[in-house]
Amino acid sequence: MAIHSSTGSDEAAIVARDISPEVENEEAERNDLTLRPQSLADYVGQPDIKRNLDIFVRACQQRGDVLEHILFHGPPGLGKTTLAHVVAREMDSKVRVTSGPALDRPGDVAAIITNLEEGDILFIDEIHRLKPVVEETLYTAMEDFAIDIVLGKGPSARSMRLNLPRFTLVGATTKLSHISSPLRDRFGHVFRLEFYSAEEIQRIIERSANILELEIESEASARLAQSARQTPRIANRLLRRARDFASVQGQDILTLALVEKTLGHMGIDSEGLDEMDRSLLAMVIEKFGGGPVGLSTLAAATSEHAQTIEDIYEPFLIQKGLMDRTPRGRVVTPRAYDYLNINL
Ligand code: ADP
Repeated sequence: MAIHSSTGSDEAAIVARDISPEVENEEAERNDLTLRPQSLADYVGQPDIKRNLDIFVRACQQRGDVLEHILFHGPPGLGKTTLAHVVAREMDSKVRVTSGPALDRPGDVAAIITNLEEGDILFIDEIHRLKPVVEETLYTAMEDFAIDIVLGKGPSARSMRLNLPRFTLVGATTKLSHISSPLRDRFGHVFRLEFYSAEEIQRIIERSANILELEIESEASARLAQSARQTPRIANRLLRRARDFASVQGQDILTLALVEKTLGHMGIDSEGLDEMDRSLLAMVIEKFGGGPVGLSTLAAATSEHAQTIEDIYEPFLIQKGLMDRTPRGRVVTPRAYDYLNINL
C-alpha cells in the first residue's frame, strides 16, 4: 500500500489537514472564535472539570479572591484554550494570551505581567515549551507575585524585587510529562481533558450548525460526530467542509447523504480514520510484522515527522485500540488486523 506523506501528493496533504486536531490557518482560527463557547453552561462535555471550575470560581467570587493557577493538559483541539477564556469570563476578568515559544527572555514575562491588573488571567499555551530561564522567572511570579530583576553587571550588579498584581496563570499543554515538577507544583489545579463521547460531539456539531445558521439532519450530525475523532476542533472542521459541499451542490440542508459524500471525498471512514492512518497501520503490519517498530524508523518509512506521528496520529490510534506503545516501540493490535481485513 502506498504511504502518503503530508508533503506528498495534494490529496494526501488535504486529507492530512482535515483530521489534524491542530489549528489549520488564520481563517479557520477566526471561525473557531465564533464557535467558541462563552460560558461554562455553553461548554459541552468535560463534566468533572466544569463542576470543579464552577465551585472554584464561585468560592473565589464570594471571598473576593484571585483564582489559583490552573493547568489544562490533553491532546490538541479538545478545548483547553476555550476553557481559559470561559474561566476569564466567569470571573469577569480580562485574559492576556501568549505561548511558551513566544516568551523568549525573562524580561518578556516581566513586561506582560506588570501590565496585568489584579485578578487578570495570563494564558500561556504550549507551556511545556518555555525556556528554563523564563520558566524560573515564572516561579516567583506565580508564588509570591513578584519578580527579581538584576540591575547592572559584574560586582556592582544588584537585584531588585518588583511586585506584581495578583494574577491567575492558566497554562495549557499537550505534554504534561514535559513540564518540570517545580512548575507543575505551582499550579493549584491540574485538569486533564478527555476525548469527547459521540453524543457530546454531536451536540457540539449541532450547536455550531445553529451558530452558522445551517440546517442539519440529526442522522447527519451523528454521522459527522462518528468521524470527528472525538475532538471538537475536527468536528467543527468537518461541519464546515460539509457546508462547503452543500453550497457547491446547491443544497440548503445538510443531509446524511451529503455528509457521507463529503466524508467519502475526504477519505475519512466511519471510525474517523483517513488514508494516512490506514497506511500507517498497514505499514507496521506489512513491513514490520506488526511491530514493535521504533518511532524514528516509522517516521523514516512514512516520510512523516516523528513529532507528527507522535502528536497527531498516534494518540487517536491508541485511543481507538488499534495501536499500542511498548518499551521496544509501536505495535499494532489484533483489532487493527480486523479493521484492515488482514489475517493475523
Ligand atoms: P485546544 O486549546 O485544546 O487545542 P481549543 O480550545 O482551541 O482547543 O478548541 C478548539 C475549538 O473547538 C474551539 O474553537 C471551539 O469552537 C471548539 N470546542 C472546544 N471545546 C468545546 C466544547 N467543550 N464545547 C463546544 N465547542 C468546543
